[in-house]
Formats: sequence, C-alpha cells, structure tokens
Amino acid sequence: MKINLNSGREKSLLRRHPWVFSSAIKSMEEASPASGQTVDLLSSEGDFLARAAYSPTSQIRARVWTFTDEPVDKEFFRKRIRAAIEMRQRSNIESRSDAYRILHGESDGVPGFVVDRYKDMLVLQSTTAGSEFWKETVADLLVEETGIQNIYERSDVDVRELEGLKPITGILRGTVPDSLISITEYNLKFNVDVVHGHKTGFYLDQRANRHRVGELAKDRDVLNCFCYTGGFSIHALANGAKSVLSVDSSADALALLEGNIALNNLPAERHTSLEGDVFQLLRKFRDANRSFDMIILDPPKFAPTAAHAEKASRAYKDINLLAFKLLRHGGILVTFSCSGGVDAALFQKIIASAALDAGTDAAIIEHMSQGSDHPVSLHFPEGAYLKGLICVKG
Ligand code: SAH
Repeated sequence: MKINLNSGREKSLLRRHPWVFSSAIKSMEEASPASGQTVDLLSSEGDFLARAAYSPTSQIRARVWTFTDEPVDKEFFRKRIRAAIEMRQRSNIESRSDAYRILHGESDGVPGFVVDRYKDMLVLQSTTAGSEFWKETVADLLVEETGIQNIYERSDVDVRELEGLKPITGILRGTVPDSLISITEYNLKFNVDVVHGHKTGFYLDQRANRHRVGELAKDRDVLNCFCYTGGFSIHALANGAKSVLSVDSSADALALLEGNIALNNLPAERHTSLEGDVFQLLRKFRDANRSFDMIILDPPKFAPTAAHAEKASRAYKDINLLAFKLLRHGGILVTFSCSGGVDAALFQKIIASAALDAGTDAAIIEHMSQGSDHPVSLHFPEGAYLKGLICVKG
C-alpha cells in the first residue's frame, strides 16, 4: 500500500524525522488502510522515502519504522529490540540499576512502544496504531530476546485516544507477582507497583538525577515536592540529609514511600510525609516563614504539547518563585519539567523570571536530563522531554 506526499513534504523524512502529518498526504493507493497497517511513503514524484505504520485517526497519520525498503516483519522488530538492548549494555546501565527502560519509542526506532524492565518483569506500553498492530509479535520477541517470561501491559495513557485506541491493562505474558517488585537503584531499594503505580510503576528517567541530589543533600533540610514514592527523598536520607519533608497529593504513593524508608533501614525520625497540594502547601510554608536548604520540584507534565505552554509556564513560575523564597541563603533548588511543550530554553527563562520576582539571585550549577536508557535520537529532538536545573541561591 503506497502513500504519496505533497511536494515539499518529503523534507522532514529526508532528515529522518519519523512523523508524517495528515496535511502532508497527497494521495493514497487505497482509500482506507487498516489501523496500524504498514504503508510505503513516497514523494510526490513517486520516490521511496520510508516504510511506516498508518494511523487513520491521528493527526500524525504515519510513523516511520524504517527509512530503507527492508521488510517490516518479526525479524525487523527483533533487530530493533537487539539494538536497543545492546545500547543499554554499552552504557552499562545494569551496574546502576536492575530497573531500566529497554525500548524508548521513536528514539529506539519503534514509535509507540515503551518497555521498562523491573528485574524479572517487563512492563509494556503501546500508544499508537502501529504499536498496537505489532504488540503480540513484540511481546513474543521480548520474551525470546531478554529471557524474561513476564510482561504486564500498561497501555492506560490518554494519548491512545488520539489513535482511536481504548486503554488496556493486564498480563501480556507469564504472570504478575502478588507483591510489589523490589528494585535496586544505586544500592538503594524501591518497591514498585507495576499494576497501580504511575506510568509503568516508577520514574526511571530520574535515576541519575536522584543519585546526584543524594550527593548534594548531606546535612541539609530538604523539601521534596511531588515526591511520588520517595525517589529523591530516599537518596537524600541515605546520604545524610538532616531532615526530609516529602509532599505528594497521592496517599498511595506516600504509603509506598514509607515502605521504602523501612526497606532501606533509613532513619524514619528524620523524615515526614505530607499529603497535600504543593501549590497550597508552598504558600502555607511561606506564610509560616518556613525555610529549607534544598527544595526539589518534580511536578507532573503541565504542558503535554506547545499549545499548553503558556498556562504551564505560569504554573512552573508559581512553584519556583515560592521555592526561591523558601530557600535559605546558599540553598539549592532542584527543579524539573517533563513537559514536551516547554523546551529547555523556555524552562530556563521561566526559572530566571521566578528568581527575579522572588527578589533573589541564583546561579545554575548543573543542567540535567533523562537517563541514558531514555535516549534521544538526533533526528527526533521531541524525544528530549525531561529537563532540570540545579540552582544555588545567592
Ligand atoms: N520525583 C518523583 C516523581 C514525581 S511524579 C520520583 O523521582 O519518583 C509527580 C508526582 O506529583 C506524582 O506522584 C503525583 O501524585 C504528584 N502530584 C501531582 N499534582 C500534585 C499536586 N498538585 N500536589 C502534590 N502532588 C502532586
């Protein structure tokens, strides 16, 4: 099945960007290809450009599997999976953790597929028509190539709607353990709930940043906002933080956090969990003249796309401004955005404007991003979604 693109719309494909928008399509050989069907993308003159998955409902009408004319079949996906596994081996990820991302969508040449490993369990997320089409094949291959027998599916993300897909969760292969999976990250243990937890269970993308924050936390009074199951809190406590206050709106996440403190034999008397809304609590702390030596802000995605950027910018500025006010002199702000709609340059501007309005000087001492198991293909800059700054208040 062949699709011809409008003249000029082949350019992004020639730069190896994997998305084709509906407006780029000039004509199609068949009126209505099936959801996820493999199609050939041709220029307006009929030159072969790429082989892709067709998505009938999404604005992103096709996502490229390959820029060559190799067949897209089971062996194709085996090659992709092997390459992704080898990339993780090269970066020696297993020396840091037994939980890491094996497949990261477009950046691993498999749009729509995210696969995370939690010890002897894989969690698969399928977000596009194309990944849905090949899901069973990829599940078989994952078992064959990793030797891991258990795969749980967490395809319960809103973006599936755009592809005309309903949320799906459940066992894809093998079994799910009755209890939580205890993973190890830089010698610290975390209980992960792959069935009920956020995303696939754990925010694997923050691994290196959690480690770095641990190194900086010694003897500090730490406020960890949007703490989830305590990633940053556990690293801070383990590295000698004087006190850690962890805030999240999810009682389930905080219960796991408490369990993680016990799991690592950390001094529970130095830790406090607080269930609540960070926006309100930061104001309450300001009004009560509370202060901290280190504040971590790792909020959820405020701007999934650029269309949400303005509203998201206000929310980022709000919490960062309050954080600057609550920090003592020499205090450290560790601040993140995982919003695709806010790029690194805009994020830095927001933080600068927050410092200005808080009436403080601050300097960036480090830039942070997602871990090496969440690679960013040079041809797919959208893959770089996580950005963070470590700032010291002057
Ligand atoms: N830093 C964490 C991941 C944070 S994810 C880690 O390393 O594991 C974002 C968290 O923010 C989620 O746990 C979610 O429950 C929480 N959250 C979302 N909105 C919130 C709000 N307004 N106030 C407090 N917590 C919120």
